[in-house]
Amino acid sequence: MPQLNENFLKLEKNYLFINIAKKINAFKEANPEADIIRMGIGDVTLPIAPVVIEAMKKGCDEMGVKETFKGYEDSGAGYDFLREAVSGYYKSFGADVAPEEIRINDGAKSDCGNIVDIFGNDNIVLVTDPAYPVYVDSNLMNGRKIIYADSNEENGFAAMPDFGVHADIIYLCSPNNPTGSVYTEEQLKIWIDYAKQNNAVIIYDSAYEAFITEDGIPRSIYCVEGAKEVAIEMCSLSKTAGFTGMRCGYTVIPNELTVKASDGSDVSLAQLWGRRQGSKFNGVSYPVQCAAAAVFTDEGLKQIRENIAYYQENARIIADTMTELGVKFTGGVNSPYIWFKCPNNMGSWEFFDLMLSRIAVVGTPGEGFGKNGEGWFRLTAFGDRQRTVEAMERFKGLIKSL
Ligand code: PLP
Repeated sequence: MPQLNENFLKLEKNYLFINIAKKINAFKEANPEADIIRMGIGDVTLPIAPVVIEAMKKGCDEMGVKETFKGYEDSGAGYDFLREAVSGYYKSFGADVAPEEIRINDGAKSDCGNIVDIFGNDNIVLVTDPAYPVYVDSNLMNGRKIIYADSNEENGFAAMPDFGVHADIIYLCSPNNPTGSVYTEEQLKIWIDYAKQNNAVIIYDSAYEAFITEDGIPRSIYCVEGAKEVAIEMCSLSKTAGFTGMRCGYTVIPNELTVKASDGSDVSLAQLWGRRQGSKFNGVSYPVQCAAAAVFTDEGLKQIRENIAYYQENARIIADTMTELGVKFTGGVNSPYIWFKCPNNMGSWEFFDLMLSRIAVVGTPGEGFGKNGEGWFRLTAFGDRQRTVEAMERFKGLIKSL
């Protein structure tokens, strides 16, 4: 009989969004006529930019012709044309990342979860709380010790390190899911100093970098001095270009990022990760990589910006509603997420139930992202404009009635 990896038994039984779906289904059964507006799951809704679809079709056509057909990709790290395009994109906002330091993947979730394969199980992992659940779950699966840095109302949901506490692996996400907060260059520099002091590695998730609007907020940790010695960065086209159903992202491991092995030798993390991927991952499909490369052309960037601007306007509408009602919130400016404090000190699941039953609007209870999310709530700006406006009208009525 096989032994189980019993660490899995320590995970929350149901993933957050399954719990939410169950509650919605129960509500729908009891209220079949209800007009539910969904602002919970952080999935995009606008179609993919035409220039990107054209590039994908062209890639498909090439697969149907003997001379241009592609089988396995040699490196498994992504075609040069795409790695060069990503490198150029990084340069456009001041980050020096070489094509060889970039590996193309099927979205950031896989790499966020799988990167832990190259680290030993005795590492202490530091996660900001609240956080995207993948960071915690993928480390719990290997039985690693997790410690938390508190993101809360006092620090504007931008947790900073405690230099008296040691960690080996640090997860940071900016713009943050779920809180929509961002780190400044100075704050990231402090995290980099903390990582250096602890010989730690930062895993930096920049999946929402395209939503940054304010000057001076880094779009990449590599915009900050010293980051290449300590940080891995993961990004994705899911939110940048509507690729949640296409699946393409990229991970950067700088050449200079090394960790000492127990025999004292310096081991390149890029090499170790390349070795891992070589055994367990066979790359991203050619047509999808063609589509991804089109995102970074002038026309591609122009077209994806239009979609992002649409979501940003939704975010502004939600944020303005919160301001008008005097509800405390973060996000909405450099992020598609608005993270607000539940009224009257309500718990976040309590407020979820209230919103669903009274105004048929669905959001995400903050508690699902960690203990500091209790009493807070996430709405996303990825929906339809009219529905967002309608949801905010209903929301105003609800808050005023309390
Ligand atoms: N990182 C963060 C913070 C996210 O919120 C998400 C998705 O919602 C991802 C990574 C993963 O995105 P994907 O796997 O679609 O690239």
